[in-house]
Amino acid sequence: MRRDGDTLGAMDDRTCSRPGCRRYADRTVTVDYAAQLLVVGPLQQASRQGAIEGSYALCEPHADRHAGPTGWQIVRYEPGHASL
Ligand SMILES: [Zn+2]
Repeated sequence: MRRDGDTLGAMDDRTCSRPGCRRYADRTVTVDYAAQLLVVGPLQQASRQGAIEGSYALCEPHADRHAGPTGWQIVRYEPGHASL
């Protein structure tokens, strides 16, 4: 799954949404403003195409550190990991 190295010219590649970050994105963060909730889960293809409103793709380190605004709740959804 993980791809290291340069992906120059790969505009369509799944890269992190953070400015300046060129790492491979393998997490989708969905923002629910009404509920003040961030949901961090596996990458969804639709999110990087703008098909899911309020969602974006992040690399794993950025997703792990993603905290959101103060007071927001964060749900990390990781199938394959039994740590809930
Ligand atoms: Zn990143």
